[in-house]
Amino acid sequence: MPTRENLKLIDFKKVISRSSYGRGSRCSKSLWLHRNRSKNTRSLPNEGKLIKLASNQLVDAAAQLFQTEPFLCARLSLEENKDWDASVAATTAAIENGETVLANPSFYGNDLMCDIHYLQKNKSGSWKAFIVKSSTKVSDNSKEKATFQLHTLKESGLKISHFYFLTINNKYKRAEKLDHHQLFKKTDILPTLNKLEAPLKATIIKLRKTLTLEQAPEIPIGEYCLSPYNCEFKSNCWKHVPKDSVFNLRRVSRETKFKWWNNGIQTINELQQSKYEAGSLLSETQGEKYVDQLGLTEFMSHIKFPVLFLDFEAYLPALPPFIGVKPFQIIPFLFAAYKCESIDQPPSFHSFIGTPKKDPRKQFALHLIEKCSNVNSILVYDPMTEKKVIRGLIREFPEYVVELEIIISKIIDLAIPIRNKQFYLPAMKGLSSMKHVLPAVDASNNYNSLSVQSGRAASQLYQILCDEHHDRNEEQELDNLIEYCKMDVYGLVQVYNAFLKALGRPIVSFN
Ligand code: SF4
Repeated sequence: MPTRENLKLIDFKKVISRSSYGRGSRCSKSLWLHRNRSKNTRSLPNEGKLIKLASNQLVDAAAQLFQTEPFLCARLSLEENKDWDASVAATTAAIENGETVLANPSFYGNDLMCDIHYLQKNKSGSWKAFIVKSSTKVSDNSKEKATFQLHTLKESGLKISHFYFLTINNKYKRAEKLDHHQLFKKTDILPTLNKLEAPLKATIIKLRKTLTLEQAPEIPIGEYCLSPYNCEFKSNCWKHVPKDSVFNLRRVSRETKFKWWNNGIQTINELQQSKYEAGSLLSETQGEKYVDQLGLTEFMSHIKFPVLFLDFEAYLPALPPFIGVKPFQIIPFLFAAYKCESIDQPPSFHSFIGTPKKDPRKQFALHLIEKCSNVNSILVYDPMTEKKVIRGLIREFPEYVVELEIIISKIIDLAIPIRNKQFYLPAMKGLSSMKHVLPAVDASNNYNSLSVQSGRAASQLYQILCDEHHDRNEEQELDNLIEYCKMDVYGLVQVYNAFLKALGRPIVSFN
């Protein structure tokens, strides 16, 4: 372990951290650009930050697995915001002071740097390492990152006897008190990581060379630009990609698109002239507006006023927050609705959002029943989540089975005419998700102006608000969540209006 004095001598420009290793192993150009970026460059996308922050509660909960209360070396934070200097110094001091269980310790060795969720000292002086995962299984990507952590711990001078992944036992059902020993599954993966260490060392050598380059390495675009997040340097590296590139094609795997691209087939036009059989895809993505008047009329005949346009948001917490709940069980916390009494009356907006940290389900059910009474049709886009949530509410509150079953029976899926090709616009590019359909039916509206831009981000944000340590403006964030859900449900009205227009009928007006 470095001393506090020689920590000051570390040249952090040369250091490879766990996230810079992950970045560089996917694309060395990304590592170079990130290390040499201007301060204004966009960092991890908002959704990625929310996911990381939401997982902090689970890591904190795993502290209960140790008989001794872990010594907190640093609060969990995003790596880019971390004060590495202070956290390595705090870890060094904790070890010198004889602490035996460390929470979030940070290590430096041989120009490598990492933190880890927990370390526990054995009597022999070696250490057990622990990584908490918000999943039931561990991906290859997680194993690679863990190998980097193992290697860095060794380089910093620690002897590691076991390396555990703490994953979630999704069979566990919460009683009044959370039983952390039943919730977490402990698996020692040290033998696997030891085997992965040799290729990891070879990658580190390559990354060290990248960091010494005067200019960014030439790396062609690839799938790594898009996964796990859109790379922040994409607008620069993808400048040469034409507007009508094969990447615009939908329902084609990324792998296939990059195969075409790498074989010189870059535009949809070139694909049409090529040997590749993609004609059906092209006719769909470049096709004209299409309306099946008979089919669409038949679909619309099932919709009866008053109608309710309805959308839910739910989260799936790894830590069961309430009695009787299993890990990753769906918990609804928000719905938004526009109620329309008749086609010539403007719709009225309604919403319900739970109070963070309290079980929202009963209030959600009661408000839903109230808003759905006195309507004949409930219009939902792709109602799989909504139906699953309502069935869960029936199991939880059987006293409301009649009212909730009636709600299910009134649901009509507005995505049906789009999925069945009874209504199609070229701007949908063959996709039927609301995020693609809404801009196609109403170009003036999209999610870019919103603080929350996806259902996933909404559920992560709500989970963060359920953490007693969160530092968010709760009232503001709850409003942001409602705004997001309102946009989804506004989209439903616009889709319905697009169908009405296509049939030459009057539409729902907000004025
Ligand atoms: S956009 Fe692609 S090629 Fe460019 S730095 Fe990012 S991952 Fe690398």
